[in-house]
Amino acid sequence: MHTKTIKELAQGLRSREFSSVELTRHFLARTEQHKDLNAFVTVTEDLALQAAEAADVRIANGDTALLAGIPIAQKDIFCTLGVKTSCGSKMLDNFIAPYNATVVEKLNEAGAVMLGKLNMDEFAMGSSNENSYYGVVKNPWDKSAVSGGSSGGSAVAVAAKLAVCVTGTDTGGSIRQPAAFCGITGLKPTYGRVSRYGMVAYASSLDQGGPMARSAEDAAILLQAMAGFDEKDSTSVDHPVPDYTASLNQPLAGLKIGLPAEFFGTGLSHNIATDLANAINEYRRLGAEIIDLSMPTLKLAIPVYYVIASAECSSNLSRFDGVRYGYRCENPVDLTDLYTRSRGEGFGKEVKRRILMGTYALSAGYYDAYYLKAQKIRRLISDDFKNALAQVDVIMSPVTPTNAFGIGEKTTDPIQMYLEDLYTIAINLAGLPAISIPAGLSAAKEGGIAMPVGLQIIGNYFTETKLLNIAHQYQQVTDWHQRMPYGFE
Ligand code: GLN
Repeated sequence: MHTKTIKELAQGLRSREFSSVELTRHFLARTEQHKDLNAFVTVTEDLALQAAEAADVRIANGDTALLAGIPIAQKDIFCTLGVKTSCGSKMLDNFIAPYNATVVEKLNEAGAVMLGKLNMDEFAMGSSNENSYYGVVKNPWDKSAVSGGSSGGSAVAVAAKLAVCVTGTDTGGSIRQPAAFCGITGLKPTYGRVSRYGMVAYASSLDQGGPMARSAEDAAILLQAMAGFDEKDSTSVDHPVPDYTASLNQPLAGLKIGLPAEFFGTGLSHNIATDLANAINEYRRLGAEIIDLSMPTLKLAIPVYYVIASAECSSNLSRFDGVRYGYRCENPVDLTDLYTRSRGEGFGKEVKRRILMGTYALSAGYYDAYYLKAQKIRRLISDDFKNALAQVDVIMSPVTPTNAFGIGEKTTDPIQMYLEDLYTIAINLAGLPAISIPAGLSAAKEGGIAMPVGLQIIGNYFTETKLLNIAHQYQQVTDWHQRMPYGFE
């Protein structure tokens, strides 16, 4: 049952081949069996079985919603009523959300069955899921390798088939990068497409929730349920939600694909470059025209991002003060002691590093030199994309410079870790949508384990339909998205 697509499962549920309760039990058993991957922070077995029973009733009554009765899981950054919402942090280890995030609400309404909450880097800061209070998430393709981050638990749950599809969030690459490392499909929508209400904030001008699934078709179905205007989120955009599955089969003849030289130069490992060249040739065969581009500001994206994201996080995370909710230190002697020890003990090392960097960048005297400068360059990066996307329909690039690296390999060097997001971060700065799809399996070294490789497709604002169509067409002529890690078939 776990290898079927959403459409196949929806069909199976309606033909009474299996019930949602049976399907849910099957996935719960897999989750238990593969506990060592550490993909889940919380498994909500009883709630899942109740939701499955309710879905079976809906289906028996003729409900046609594709997600009704389908086992999914939520990244632990989305508030879930009555269920722990930890955000991967000790700070929120005792936090039971008093309400549902809009995304959770929407998926519940669609009849999806939530199996639990997925592990992630603390407050979504990280590229390897090694920053979680709940421990590292292992990559099912090679358990000594990282899953990617921050949505590592999400990517692993899909790759190991512990859930049919899941939610993730992406501030600088957190949907696409773990998707690439684990060989699944992940879409970061246009900023404002999916509500941020009830999604714990990291860097509010960059954060965006989106679907992670095995195929573009499944991602389209999940996005359909997640997207839409939300008056509770002031940055949500009131733009009509199209039918994301309606254009999946559009032919690609005449499609103009741009390749920015800056994304294919030094830093990109040889095996990834080769796999991507093959993928791009596949698009040529599908009728696309390839156009070389130059986007000179892309190389500035990482420093700009780390100023802006840190600045926003230092402000967003000031709410965790040990007073209102979350972790509180033992026996504070006074208010200052309460604040400093609660924050000192509740936050992990990387989160503290970002808060310090951000507070510094925002302080009087440095604001103009760092924050303001970064905002100006952010505009230049957006303009670069605007010019590029005036010449081509989409831009293609790698998702990551290397395959999933070994656990512990980069933890001592934050700059090396930050460079992992070289190809994903600029897209968040511009607010554009981008999808990561599996486009190969290869080893960086002779004799190494072949690991998934991702291809990134970047489009103009609100072109999710086109990105899904382009991804789906590739998935009709290749089977990278159907490959399974050994032992998880
Ligand atoms: N790796 C980046 C960071 O640590 C991006 C994380 C994300 O997209 N949430 O900030």
